[in-house]
Amino acid sequence: MSFDELNLIEPILRALHEEGYTTPTPIQQQAIPQVLEGHDLLGIAQTGTGKTAAFTVPILQILHQTAQVERHAPGRIRCLVLTPTRELAIQIGESFKSYGRHLPKLRSTVIFGGVGQHPQVQTLKRGVEVLIATPGRLLDLMSQGFVDLRQVEVFVLDEADRMLDMGFIHDIKRILPKLPTSRQTLFFSATMPGQIQELAGSILRPNPVKVA
Ligand code: AMP
Repeated sequence: MSFDELNLIEPILRALHEEGYTTPTPIQQQAIPQVLEGHDLLGIAQTGTGKTAAFTVPILQILHQTAQVERHAPGRIRCLVLTPTRELAIQIGESFKSYGRHLPKLRSTVIFGGVGQHPQVQTLKRGVEVLIATPGRLLDLMSQGFVDLRQVEVFVLDEADRMLDMGFIHDIKRILPKLPTSRQTLFFSATMPGQIQELAGSILRPNPVKVA
């Protein structure tokens, strides 16, 4: 199977080709068509499986295609990705930039704690369509009025089990009510203990597509 069979648009196929990718990984083969069709996703996947491209690639395509149809005003946050660590946030941000390099109207940025907030706030003020964030810094900037999540169309919760281990569950529960209920949600975790299944059940629409 090649990326050409996944109904991806030319600017994305070109970026993947430039990255040197020829074959989608198993999780990409399973997830990309389902996400493109608008389904919620419950993914059991570890880092190293190609999980990041499995969600960044179809999200870029969805945002690009609906921006053309609906003429969204630019500068609204249309996709939020929550991830537990700064390293993961940076890596996901690089994926959006790389696979979206030929879709310049989709801007993304990464926010995380442990550094000054000023440059992050300046970027948010210029407007981004995709926001990748760690929970603490996101809440911090939300409470100061720098982040508005009311227009989010796609929400990704990455590494849910690590989020729980790192004590982010309360932050996540404070962020969730700020998201629209009508949205597409992609939930990823390396493991699925009961507590994670419960969280997934409370975040995803009923009967999400499962990929492992
Ligand atoms: P991830 O599991 O998302 O952290 O990805 C692991 C590594 O695999 C990253 O360095 C990606 O750039 C790379 N990668 C992802 N998908 C593919 C693919 N289809 N072909 C080759 N490399 C890939």
